[in-house]
Amino acid sequence: MAVDLHAHTRESDGSDEPKELVEKAVAAGLSAVAITDHDTLTGIRQAQQAADRSGIRLVPGVELSLQWSPGTMHMVVLWLRPEPGPLQDELARLQASRADRNERMVSRLAELGFDISLEEVLAEAGGGVVGRPHLAAVLVGKGYFPDPSAAFTELLGAGRPGYLGRERLTPEQAISLARRSGAVTVLAHPHTLGHDRAEEFAATFERLQAAGLVGVECFYPEYPPEQRLDFARETRRFNLVPSGGSDYHGNYKAGLRLGTGRENNLHVPDHVLEELEAARP
Ligand code: AMP
Ligand code: ZN
Ligand code: FE
Ligand code: FE
Repeated sequence: MAVDLHAHTRESDGSDEPKELVEKAVAAGLSAVAITDHDTLTGIRQAQQAADRSGIRLVPGVELSLQWSPGTMHMVVLWLRPEPGPLQDELARLQASRADRNERMVSRLAELGFDISLEEVLAEAGGGVVGRPHLAAVLVGKGYFPDPSAAFTELLGAGRPGYLGRERLTPEQAISLARRSGAVTVLAHPHTLGHDRAEEFAATFERLQAAGLVGVECFYPEYPPEQRLDFARETRRFNLVPSGGSDYHGNYKAGLRLGTGRENNLHVPDHVLEELEAARP
């Protein structure tokens, strides 16, 4: 059987209710699914109830965006429970920083001549953590861009006129907080790090492994099979676990299915979860 260890619900920038996502995981024949919303655990309780009803295994988690340049570093944190703890407490601060940034970004977009209000963005987000995909959706809905990807390329991506930063943990801080909260960290979609040479990936994997990183997301729908094998080889070389997930976002990422990726190009075997679990602190 297969698992999917990276997925988003309406509690951040996905479009499915947590229980709906769990039902899709069951329908896809998965033995386990991780819910990894950006900076929030609010979807876990509902998802756990749905998982208990069907017998599928739910792994509670979050995805964090970290301080990194020149590219982007995201980290998937698994087995982070919705209860007080070092990283859980930090999530509140990260959410506050997002709320502040949302207001500032909406003002910036208005200055740039886009007719957009915070209320519209919050309505698009439906009560969950707000991210740039929600801004993109509102702008596409108003006809400013043909699709979200164009909104990012021209306006919302890092370095573009509508982009503003927000508070981020360093990779080492995130790994340490996660460990102290009983969770396991997986470096998400390493192709976004801004590396192009194998030595750069090796240096980053080594640095993060020394800090306590457990896994690297090697099985990911957006990579060609050859790249997945390259990442898996490098990952093993540094005693890290090759993990994987779809990064499913419902309607916010067209053509991507939970568990199976794009046109069935994803299969993350059960033993991946067992290996990650063996590293729980
Ligand atoms: P935020 O967390 O608000 O900074 O938004 C980051 C999220 O925006 C990422 O997790 C992706 O889901 C999405 N995103 C980033 N870059 C792009 C892009 N070029 N096209 C579409 N979505 C993107
Ligand atoms: Zn997302
Ligand atoms: Fe990500
Ligand atoms: Fe994600």
